[in-house]
Amino acid sequence: MEKYSVLMVLGEGSFGRVFLVHHKNKNQKYAMKEIRLPKSIFDTEKSWNESILLAKMKHPNIVTYLESFEGDGHLYIVMEYCDDGDLMQKIKLQKGKLFPEDMILNWFAQICLGVRYIHDKRVLHRDIKSKNIFLTQNGKVKLGDFGSALLLSSPKAYACSYVGTPYYVPPEIWENTPYNNKSDIWSLGCILYELCTLKHPFQANSWKHLILKICKGYYNPLPSHYTYELHYLIKQMFKKNPKNRPSASTILARSCLAKRIRNFASAEEEEKSTRSKSSHSEAEVIAKGFCEMGLEKTGGYVRKYENIRRKQWTKEPPETLMNILQNADISLAFKTYTIYKADDLLRGPLTEEKKASDEPDGETISEDAEQLESRSDEEDTDFEAEDDPDWVFELKRMTKVE
Ligand code: ADP
Ligand code: MG
Repeated sequence: MEKYSVLMVLGEGSFGRVFLVHHKNKNQKYAMKEIRLPKSIFDTEKSWNESILLAKMKHPNIVTYLESFEGDGHLYIVMEYCDDGDLMQKIKLQKGKLFPEDMILNWFAQICLGVRYIHDKRVLHRDIKSKNIFLTQNGKVKLGDFGSALLLSSPKAYACSYVGTPYYVPPEIWENTPYNNKSDIWSLGCILYELCTLKHPFQANSWKHLILKICKGYYNPLPSHYTYELHYLIKQMFKKNPKNRPSASTILARSCLAKRIRNFASAEEEEKSTRSKSSHSEAEVIAKGFCEMGLEKTGGYVRKYENIRRKQWTKEPPETLMNILQNADISLAFKTYTIYKADDLLRGPLTEEKKASDEPDGETISEDAEQLESRSDEEDTDFEAEDDPDWVFELKRMTKVE
C-alpha cells in the first residue's frame, strides 16, 4: 500500500470504493478497488474470486489487472485506470444526441471481443451493463467489474445462483430456469440498445412492469435511420429462448463487425499464440488459481464472493416477491443483486436478510481434463433446463397485466 498514493475516489459501488492511485515507482496512475473482507477465513478466500478471475483475463478489451493484496481488513485490487469513465456516464453526457452508427459499432465490437474472450474461458460475467464498461481516451473499450463473475465447471454446466442488475437480467432468470453464457448476451443486447437510443430497452415505472416487459420482450423499435444490421442484432440478442440468442463469436462474425475487428485482431492473435503454447487449458489455469487460494480444502467450488454490502435476493413464492416489489423504488433495479436458487422459496431484495443461504452452489472444479477443454459454440446453450415453476404465469394472473 505504501507504494501507492491515493489521488481521488473514482466510484462507489455495492462493495466499497474505487480509488485513482499513483504508483510511486512506476510513476503511473491505476484504479484501486477496495473490498471489505468478511471476518471468517472461509469467506475471505471467496473474496479473492474477483481478483483471481481478473488476474487470468489478459485481453485488450478487459481491464488489465496489476496486483492485489490484503491490508487493514480490506482486499485491494489494483488495475489499469480507464481515463474516460464508464459507458453509462458517456451515454448520459450525450443529453439526447444520438451516437453515430460507426461509433456504436466500433464500441460494440470491442465489448463483444471482451465477452467472447471470457466465454471462451467458460467465465460468465453476470453483471454486464453500461456502468461496468470502461473507456480510455485513446478509444479503447474495456469490460470490467468481475465482482459477480463465475467460472463454470464444464462446457455443459449451468449456474444455480444469479448475480445481476434487474434492468439487464434476462427472462430465464425471472422465470427461474438455469442460465449460461447466453444470459450475458441478453445483457449485451441491452448495452447495444442503450448505445443506439440512449435509453434502456425495458423502461418501467414499477418492478412488476419491468419484469413483465423483460419476460415478454417488449421494447420500442430502434430509430429507423439505423441500418438493418443493428435492428437484426438487437432482435437476435433479445430472443426469449437463450438457445436462439447468438454467441459472442456469432455476433462478431456479422460483416458489419467482422471488418472492424481486423484492427483489433493483431493484439488478440498475439495473446492466443502465447496461450496455445501452454500445456494447460485456460479453465484449468483459472481453476488452479482457486486451488492455490486453498479453495480445494474447503470443498473446491467456485463462487462469487459473499460481500456483506451486496444485496441478496433469495427465492420465495412470487406473490411475496411482487408484494414486496409493489412499493419498491424502481431505481433499485439498477443495483447488482444475488439471486439464489437454493430451495423453492423466492425473496425480494427488500426482505430482511434473515436466511441468506450459505450452501455452496455446487459448481465444482472438475479434475477431469476432458471437461476442462474449451467449449465450442454449438455446446454453449446445450444444457438441461430445470422444471419451470412458471411464476411469470402466476405474475400475469395476479396482476392481470397484458
Ligand atoms: P461495483 O462492484 O461497485 O460495481 P466497479 O468495479 O464497477 O464496482 O467500480 C465502481 C465504479 O468505479 C465504476 O462504475 C467506475 O466509475 C469506477 N471504476 C472502477 N474501475 C475503474 C477503472 N479501472 N478505471 C476507471 N474507473 C473505474
Ligand atoms: Mg460495477
